[in-house]
Amino acid sequence: LQQQTKDRSKSRKRSREASRARSANGRFGGAQEFSFGDILGEGSYSTVMRARYIRTGQEYAIKILDKNHLIRKEKMLVALAEKNVLVKLGAGHPGIIHLHWTFQDEWSLFFVLDLAPNGEMQSRISRLGSLSLPCSRYYAAQIVDALQHMHEKDVIHRDLKPENLLLDADFRIKITDFGTGKILEDGAERSNTFVGTAQYVAPELLESNETSKSSDLWALGCIIYQMISGRFAFQGLSEYLTWQKIKSLDYTFPDGFDEDAKDVVQRLLVRDPSQRLGAGDTDSMYSYAALRAHPFFASVSWDTLWTDPAPKLE
Ligand code: ATP
Repeated sequence: LQQQTKDRSKSRKRSREASRARSANGRFGGAQEFSFGDILGEGSYSTVMRARYIRTGQEYAIKILDKNHLIRKEKMLVALAEKNVLVKLGAGHPGIIHLHWTFQDEWSLFFVLDLAPNGEMQSRISRLGSLSLPCSRYYAAQIVDALQHMHEKDVIHRDLKPENLLLDADFRIKITDFGTGKILEDGAERSNTFVGTAQYVAPELLESNETSKSSDLWALGCIIYQMISGRFAFQGLSEYLTWQKIKSLDYTFPDGFDEDAKDVVQRLLVRDPSQRLGAGDTDSMYSYAALRAHPFFASVSWDTLWTDPAPKLE
């Protein structure tokens, strides 16, 4: 009954936001510039709709956040943090969702984002069981490239997982959901707020409540493992047991797991955050250059990674 009530209230909220957005077409500065289409998805505090910018015909995804709901749930700061991180990242990288502009009306905040019409990586993995090695390598390389850009801009994502990897019209990655993102101010190396998703949380967050750029590289290790094997690297019967496994680095590779892939995962799933591939300075053995040069990525053409067609998703 509780679930039914929750579903009904969710669907009421959804249709209220959708109809406001549609009726906003003619009334509010900002929304009037768009013609709104179908709902692409829903988050805990938002509804995301397809929308066409009337003047150019360009399609976008517009994230609509209900102000009252944000205030009631004390999530206004999260929404603003997401906006700040997206603004800081700008349009600098094809693998990161770009915030084109924002506006608001009496009830809602509107974030105009790149449209990623091919959904979440998570549902592709679930549907296919796992991804082929060429696909896993291609998407891993795109994540590496986007993460390097993000980290060079001093932004940590802190909740990297296949649900937050969207696929654009050309089946290339767009990293999204910067609600838990963090800008490291004044050269700070770490942040200490507990955020993230059980299966992808790095051990340092569980042990000393600290995250750094390197925690995103741990999550990358978990994602590569998951794309190839179709299952979580760390999964216990409860969140607590999952965390125990993470803390003791308790995971195994299924038979037949590619050897180079195994090696790169092992160099990312390292307990010491400073010793993960990608976490070190430019001239260190743990630099991004070393990560890119890993044998798992030997066949990747980094220069044309965002222009070559994506391999068939299988
Ligand atoms: P939560 O807030 O609960 O963590 P979330 O981060 O997934 O959820 P949103 O960012 O509002 O919430 O996204 C809701 C859904 O809308 C997503 O699951 C995704 O499927 C879809 N979506 C989000 N952004 C886009 C986009 N730019 N293009 C296409 N679909 C999108």
